[in-house]
Amino acid sequence: MIEASPIALLLVNHEEKIIYLNNFAVQIFSFEKKELTGQKLTKLVPDIYNIKPPDFWESYFARPTTLRLGESNELTATTKSGKKFPIEIRMSPIVTDQTVCTLVTINNIPKLVKANEQIRLVVESAPNAMILTDSSGKISMVNKQTEVLFGYNRDELIGKKIEILVPQRMKKHHPEHRKNFYTHPVARPMGAGRDLYGVKRDGTEIPVEIGLNPVEKDGDQFVLASVIDITERKKNEEAIKLYAKQIEDKNKELEDFTNIASHDLREPLNSIISLTELLMLKKSDNLDEEGMKMLDYISKSSSRMSEMIIGLLEYARLGDSKELVLTDLNELIKIVLLDLDSSVKEANAEIQVEKLPTLHVYAIEMKSLFQNIISNALKYKKKDVSLKISIVAKPVKEGWVFGVSDNGIGIPEAQKEKIFNLFHRLHRKNEYDGTGIGLAHCRKITELHNGKIWVESELGNGSTFYFFIPAKLAQNKKYNYLK
Ligand code: ADP
Repeated sequence: MIEASPIALLLVNHEEKIIYLNNFAVQIFSFEKKELTGQKLTKLVPDIYNIKPPDFWESYFARPTTLRLGESNELTATTKSGKKFPIEIRMSPIVTDQTVCTLVTINNIPKLVKANEQIRLVVESAPNAMILTDSSGKISMVNKQTEVLFGYNRDELIGKKIEILVPQRMKKHHPEHRKNFYTHPVARPMGAGRDLYGVKRDGTEIPVEIGLNPVEKDGDQFVLASVIDITERKKNEEAIKLYAKQIEDKNKELEDFTNIASHDLREPLNSIISLTELLMLKKSDNLDEEGMKMLDYISKSSSRMSEMIIGLLEYARLGDSKELVLTDLNELIKIVLLDLDSSVKEANAEIQVEKLPTLHVYAIEMKSLFQNIISNALKYKKKDVSLKISIVAKPVKEGWVFGVSDNGIGIPEAQKEKIFNLFHRLHRKNEYDGTGIGLAHCRKITELHNGKIWVESELGNGSTFYFFIPAKLAQNKKYNYLK
């Protein structure tokens, strides 16, 4: 029986050596029987070690069991002439008092069957539910994940209409959607823009995302639907929406607060300023030198506070209902430098401007951005070195990086991020005048453009302020939160 069997049978001992093989094995490998007897099995199946570790035989014979190889992996056998063909192996241990052997059955698997088997395995183990339906909407195949997701056994689904998985309220139109798919059968997501739901065996609904793929099989048109449960994603989306709404409300609150606070603060402050001036003007005779000094101090401090409040207000209103305008930045820089002309002359600065691009920007804000950075470069100059400023622009992926370099006093490493915070200053007012709002303004302007700003600097050796502006800017939503 064994000799007549149409299956290749080999007996392999614990040294991995073939001690017996039947006629069919001899035939398919085209060796003489005696050429194979005593040879290792790997002579016929050399790529066994592609799927098994080097100590495979040792560990196999230590605990011999029934084993299948090549079922889910590529495994080939080699004939005497070197021809390879796909196989599947089964090993069944034969244990006697004296020896342990294994009976090896080799099945020659046609390539297509093998490929199909592999596809089946991939589909079966896919993390998505996969459902194959025929042109009448009848389910002809489902994978493991479909059973898990919908709570049915596959034999409860096969042969049923796909509508078994569609919620009642959507069932009516589903056959129509199905038919429409066949009029233009291309791989596409299902229900563009619509929220899709599936229904489980117990009646609960689950939000799903579905991909449809046309498949032709045996002359019939099938559809392979891949279904993902998006319950978690939906939950996250809801949470994000809620969070965005909360932020929007908070921003509105902050905006109102800034407006009211700034407005309300300015009024008494203006009274203090004018009263101090009046006092200095009219009652100076009644005051001694110290009193006048104090009044002067009050006047300067309140003017400074007024400047800060105005700055804060401008900061809060930045980007309020502005439009993106195609702007030639070369022209914009010319205007900025004209505005700063007296400071440029005073600092005796040499300013070089490279050719700049024309971009869609919030023009007033962009002008303010350049103005702040250039006026800082003019302000934070070294006393004994003639000031050089250069303005450059470099195209990068998705936009432009601008750089404004100076050879001024530089910025300590530890301060390179902090200087962009509101009211953060590194010097006292009597050293360098300022409010500490300028760079916070700049950061907000770059963010308004979906860009960013940063500085590279060495203390005592100048600074370069860089900012990135995307080339394609979508009209931004009203942007008016306080940082
Ligand atoms: P302000 O200039 O009103 O103080 P900014 O927000 O414009 O406020 O700048 C914050 C701080 O960053 C400044 O106080 C200064 O210490 C530092 N800074 C800004 N630009 C430069 C520069 N070009 N060189 C050196 N330090 C600078």
